Amino acid sequence: MYHHIKQLMYTVRIGTPDPRFGNMLLEQFGGANGELAAAMQYSIQGLNCDDPARKDLLMDIGTEELSHLEIVGALARMHLKPMKTNRQAAETDPLVAIAGGGGVTLCNSMGNAWTADYLKVTGELDVDLRSNIAAEARAKIVYERLINFCDDPGTKDALQFLMTREITHLKAFMAALESMGKDPLVIGEIPPTPGIVEQFYNDSTGQGDDGDIDARGPWNEANGVRFIASVAQPIAAATEVEVTREIHNAVRRRLTSPAKSSRSKPAR
Ligand code: MN
Ligand code: MN
Repeated sequence: MYHHIKQLMYTVRIGTPDPRFGNMLLEQFGGANGELAAAMQYSIQGLNCDDPARKDLLMDIGTEELSHLEIVGALARMHLKPMKTNRQAAETDPLVAIAGGGGVTLCNSMGNAWTADYLKVTGELDVDLRSNIAAEARAKIVYERLINFCDDPGTKDALQFLMTREITHLKAFMAALESMGKDPLVIGEIPPTPGIVEQFYNDSTGQGDDGDIDARGPWNEANGVRFIASVAQPIAAATEVEVTREIHNAVRRRLTSPAKSSRSKPAR
């Protein structure tokens, strides 16, 4: 059950409206890492969740994200509003100004419509919690970028609150995943194939002009990992032999039947 209270979760005050910044804010309204995506992802995961304790967590945070959506919407609306009446402001985003009358719609900062394709809902609780940890990290970095591009103290203040809450959620999802007591490498029921699972393929080799290196690290040499130096080379070498043979064949065909090729020219 949802109940709306006519009060924002965090008070929003802005100085001079900045339509261009309002447009950037839409990324957190109807964008891939925005508040609607977060609200829907956690709420729908919650509907599918058979674990009552973690279902409660998903519904708690999913519902809070709806309140965040309301804050971002209010904030974006304040910045976009001049577009309705001011020609210069309208030029910053004709879609918002002309089609939307300077109001928010569920689009991202480029005017692309929000889509349920943004949601990661697998029906496997530990897998979903990992998606949520990643989603919170993305939301955090998007808020940080918005703060860095913002000059208005009131707007910055609200964004700082929203950014802070994402870290709170990040911690909660991490704790929930950990409290399940699952081996982090056990996903689902079917075990991976021994002998293949521990192989690391060094599929990108050589040194690049801009300092790219062929690196070794704990991801490819520790914890029982077996480093396979050049998986692709035998395949590439085989392909090269085939290609060379085909070129030779083509050249030989041309050399042995010169008359045929001259006859195929259009008659004058
Ligand atoms: Mn949020
Ligand atoms: Mn969040």
